[in-house]
Amino acid sequence: MQEAPKALSDEGIVVENNDKALKFIEDVTINADEVQKLVLSEILSRSADTEYLRRNGLNGCTDRGTFKKVMPVITYEDLKPDIERIANGDTSPILCSHPISEFLTSSGTSAGERKLMPTIDEELERRSLLYSLLMPVMNQFVPGLDKGKGMYFLFVKSEAKTPGGLVARPVLTSYYKSSYFKNKPNDPYTNYTSPDETILCLDSYQSMYSQLLCGLCQNEEVVRVGAVFASGFIRAIHFLEKHWGLLCKDIQSGTIDSKITDPSVREAVSKILKPNPKIADFVEAECSNGSWKGIITRLWPNTKYIDVIVTGTMSQYIPALDYYSNSLPLVCTMYASSECYFGINLDPLCKPSEVSYTLIPTMAYFEFLPVTRENELTGSISEPTALNDEEKQLVDLVDVELGQEYELVVTTYAGLYRYQVGDILRVSGFKNNAPQFNFICRKNVVLSIDSDKTDEVELQNAVKNAANQLVQFEASLVEYTSYADTSGTPGHYVLYWELSVNDANSIPPSVFENCCFTVEESLHSVYRQGRVSDKSIGPLEIRVVENGTFDMLMDFALTQGASINQYKTPRCVTYAPIIELLNSRVISSYFSQKCPRWSPGHKQWCTQN
Ligand code: AMP
Repeated sequence: MQEAPKALSDEGIVVENNDKALKFIEDVTINADEVQKLVLSEILSRSADTEYLRRNGLNGCTDRGTFKKVMPVITYEDLKPDIERIANGDTSPILCSHPISEFLTSSGTSAGERKLMPTIDEELERRSLLYSLLMPVMNQFVPGLDKGKGMYFLFVKSEAKTPGGLVARPVLTSYYKSSYFKNKPNDPYTNYTSPDETILCLDSYQSMYSQLLCGLCQNEEVVRVGAVFASGFIRAIHFLEKHWGLLCKDIQSGTIDSKITDPSVREAVSKILKPNPKIADFVEAECSNGSWKGIITRLWPNTKYIDVIVTGTMSQYIPALDYYSNSLPLVCTMYASSECYFGINLDPLCKPSEVSYTLIPTMAYFEFLPVTRENELTGSISEPTALNDEEKQLVDLVDVELGQEYELVVTTYAGLYRYQVGDILRVSGFKNNAPQFNFICRKNVVLSIDSDKTDEVELQNAVKNAANQLVQFEASLVEYTSYADTSGTPGHYVLYWELSVNDANSIPPSVFENCCFTVEESLHSVYRQGRVSDKSIGPLEIRVVENGTFDMLMDFALTQGASINQYKTPRCVTYAPIIELLNSRVISSYFSQKCPRWSPGHKQWCTQN
């Protein structure tokens, strides 16, 4: 009798899946242009009858030439009327032939509210495909990852409903609640210390506590740790600093603290938590020894790397991560957004400053708008400016030039056409025919602590609202700048104010405290959510500086080569010598005494929780 073919062992399946994923990357990067052409024609042919494409006169064409000739390059503001119709319940095919399944709420804002990105069911499959490429790539560089667990701090955020009844929530909340995450295949790479119930718990204290508890009691098994962004991982470490005593008590006794009230979390944790005095004593000894240097490698001794995004504004957390981990490799695996998931890092052990992302050509149709940026003399993040009209030709994925900076423009399966994402990327190399990009910055963003992205205009308006309160004291704001201070827990916005005032003592401290509060109230909802719900941003601070400070700042910039004709006060500073100069001139400082108002969803919607 013929022998039945042998089923592959677990290890065999992993090898086979890894090979498949790497072959996929190889194929789509070799055939990048052909894949992009197909993606565009697929998107355009299935959405040929949508109102948006008809309105712009595409007339069913699916070729690149016609698309580029007739379709405008747009921003969210251009799309807002259409998005509002969908949010209000218009289910006709406005942007996409497939039904919009929900809105993904971006951390980018418009008129103070999160932008709403339409999505369709099948996008989950595309996102999950990108995730499935990460471990096969990682496995080429770090062996043994299939032999242990990942301790990842992952969280969901609250969701709201649009007036038309569509759910609006962040992209990761949508993903973690989907069957793609909950029913993920039981393979060695999806072996996490956090049970799904702890991730899906909306209460951020209970979620963080239970995830840390599970991570600590399985400490020997952990081979990699992470969170999405560096800020989230640092928050977990700070939480541990504050609550290790309670956590040790739970590990000692094998019972869960009574503050954890969510029954599904209690049940899931109780399957993992057993009385373990040995681990409890070990954690207590490490956490109470006075120094938190290397705490990650001490508590989780088999950790090989930290998986967190430290590119873009998150680079401000690299020194803290190095300190807590005794400089374990920091691995940035992917680049993604609510609009679309873009690409992955094929050289994950490279230095954070060298991280480049390879855009995966099947995810969307990508175009690139060349940009130039002003010199970053003062350390402020300068605004990129698009080139003039002739140069404003968008370039295709395979036509970008090494070293050139571009703004990313996407056409997605979910109904965005030539949409400017707002990210500035620089071409750093190529994988076969697909370019690789350094993430340079988010256009216009000056301040960011966590996922908040505050631009110059928002800051200016908020400061103006606050400074109005000085008028009654015959005082006015002469100059200001800002700084994202991440040295404390949590980080907070600092504003440096130089005033024109007859008698500085005539203004009571409560007025400045109110100014701090007014700035916070005037900022966008992602900032206020960070302050109120996530507690990832601390109270805003105003530091009043001596008269003449901003002249000194200008003098400093001139000594560094700035032109006096072109000098503008930077509205945000990041360069250490300038921050030192400002700090050396502080007369008094004030903090916001209240939390600003925030509720899930846009102001005008009723919310559900
Ligand atoms: P959101 O729309 O809230 O999902 O935020 C997406 C934005 O986060 C992107 O457009 C980028 O500005 C930023 N982002 C995402 N991934 C990365 C990354 N790997 N490095 C730097 N910034 C990133």
